[in-house]
Amino acid sequence: METNVHNLYLAGVVCGGKDTHLWFIENSRVHASIIVNSILSKHIAKHP
Ligand SMILES: Cc1cc2nc3c(=O)[nH]c(=O)nc-3n(C[C@H](O)[C@H](O)[C@H](O)COP(=O)(O)OP(=O)(O)OC[C@H]3O[C@@H](n4cnc5c(N)ncnc54)[C@H](O)[C@@H]3O)c2cc1C
Repeated sequence: METNVHNLYLAGVVCGGKDTHLWFIENSRVHASIIVNSILSKHIAKHP
């Protein structure tokens, strides 16, 4: 979910670009946990 800008994540409808019928509440909630896990793993790698 991380963009080509370091540490900038996208979640939800915007991830589908112009296809706005791809991501809904029901199937994009997973984006949050993916993003948080990524942030946490970076943090743990930096501060073991
Ligand atoms: C009528 C309708 C019914 C729906 N029913 C369901 C349903 O039953 N189940 C389901 O799972 N999904 C449903 N959806 C889809 C659901 O609403 C979206 O998937 C969900 O709201 C997407 O959330 P999001 O945070 O990705 O985007 P959004 O909710 O669109 O949030 C994007 C936010 O960014 C803001 N924004 C945009 N441009 C800028 C800017 N330049 N600067 C600052 N802010 C900006 C917008 O104002 C908005 O608040 C429905 C959608 C509609 C329209």
